Formats: sequence, structure tokens, C-alpha cells
Amino acid sequence: MERARPRIGVLALQGDFAAHARALRSCDAEPVEVRTPEPLADVAALILPGGESTTLLRLLRLTSLDRAIPAFHRSGGFLFGTCAGLILLAREVRDPDQESLGLLDVGVQRNAYGRQVESFVGSGTFSRNGGSPAAQEMVFIRAPRILRVGEGVETIGFLGDEPTLVRAGRIWGATFHPELAEPFEIHRRFLAEVAGDR
Ligand code: GLN
Repeated sequence: MERARPRIGVLALQGDFAAHARALRSCDAEPVEVRTPEPLADVAALILPGGESTTLLRLLRLTSLDRAIPAFHRSGGFLFGTCAGLILLAREVRDPDQESLGLLDVGVQRNAYGRQVESFVGSGTFSRNGGSPAAQEMVFIRAPRILRVGEGVETIGFLGDEPTLVRAGRIWGATFHPELAEPFEIHRRFLAEVAGDR
């Protein structure tokens, strides 16, 4: 029997949510734009896209999503924060210090790659199915750096020996933009986990 296409929320307040929606469609999932708490009742996961984390944080508060997203996670939902989305999920945020949802036990530094190389495409590694790491294109746009990885947080993607993709239970975080790297291997693995195919 064919499986129904999973419905995956994409936080659509600001930033590059449209690129995540395209990536999800190409992985045979159905993106659902999330601007209020209500659609969270009907999705298996929520992607928090790249954008500008200070603006996103303000909009999360205005829409009450700052409370609805932690509740969604507690009730079994998966979360994936990419770039600014990771900054929103991280426990500590530096440069400048900023509040966050604090759901993922990592510390991040914003805009950590400096002015000269604010944006670049790196050749990183990612272990696709938990096995040996394979080459993975990683697009960094005024990206944060992960300074601290908490106990119980697993690093599954690297640029050199720096962590760039981490996961802890149902929460994933990337410092780069996986929605800009076809054929979206990282979305595919995330979706496989959401479907319980680990
Ligand atoms: N520099 C942005 C911030 O600190 C993140 C950049 C991005 O999401 N591409 O919020």
C-alpha cells in the first residue's frame, strides 16, 4: 500500500520558508505553512527556517508560537531548525546574547564566520543513515557556529571537525541551509525519522 504523504509544517513568518517547502515537495512530503499555533495540530514536524533570528523571535512572541512550539514538541512533534531556526532552538545564543526557545542543548555564536566570508558553500560530511559519513554540500549564509554540544546531543554533520548538523531525540539543528542543496539528502533522512524508519 502506498504511504500517505506526510504533512510537515514550515514556520512561515519570515525568512526562506519557500525554499524548505520546495525541498519538502521534492521529497514527496506536503509542506504546511505555519503562521499561527493552529496548523501544528495537524503536522508531524515543524521546520524553523533561516532568516533573521531577532525578527523571528519577535514574531514568535506576537503569534504565541513561542509557547505553542515547545508544547508541540512535548506532545511528540519533531523540530528542525536551520540557521536562524537553530539559533531559535539553541539553549545559549551569543554575539549578541539573545533569548531563545532553549529546546536544544547547544550553545551558538551568531554570524560567526565574519564579514569576509559571510556566505560560502562548504564541502562537509553527513552520515546519511547513521553509517559512514559521505560528502555533503553545505551552504552557509551569515551562519552561526555551534560552540558547545550538550550531553545527549549527537553530531551527524561536520565541516572539517566542526559540528554543523546535530540532533537530540526529536530535535534537529543545522548551521547551514540544507534546503539549498539538491537532492535534499538531509531532508530525506529527517523525514525518514519522522516516519519512524530509523
Ligand atoms: N545571521 C542570522 C541571524 O543571526 C541567521 C542567518 C540565516 O538564517 N541565514 O539570525
